[in-house]
Amino acid sequence: MTLTLPPKLPRALKEALASLYDDLATAQRSISVSCHQCGACCNFAEYDHELWVTNLELAYLIETEGSRAAAGTGVCPYLQNNQCIARIGRALGCRIFLCEQHAIQMETLHEAYFDRLRALAEEYDVDLEYGEFLKSLGELKE
Ligand code: SF4
Ligand code: SF4
Repeated sequence: MTLTLPPKLPRALKEALASLYDDLATAQRSISVSCHQCGACCNFAEYDHELWVTNLELAYLIETEGSRAAAGTGVCPYLQNNQCIARIGRALGCRIFLCEQHAIQMETLHEAYFDRLRALAEEYDVDLEYGEFLKSLGELKE
């Protein structure tokens, strides 16, 4: 499915999303979960997994970090020298996928924070759509 980006996000919605992401980071710290930012899971082809995002997360990422075209290599275009250059705007799945530890807690956190994201979308009349990240970047409709 080709994702349709919502119109420019209102400031209050961007602040609410930033707050959601901050709260998630706090929740992860409280259970001593951390990502040491090796970048391995951002090379989707090599890591053999997919990142799925909503149009709301994608709009926030692009408005915060700028748009970058996927190069067709199976690597996230926001990964440079194995480092994410989109730390502020990155999607929920980027923040929740932790490779080694606490898989059950991570799943629970993902559900809880995705529910918050869905509630925000409803509050701001964003029709939530869901798509695979690299494919969606390549097919964006505005
Ligand atoms: S946005 Fe950052 S964390 Fe997310 S996949 Fe790309 S490089 Fe990795
Ligand atoms: S979640 Fe794991 S694999 Fe992905 S960047 Fe962090 S430490 Fe590396």
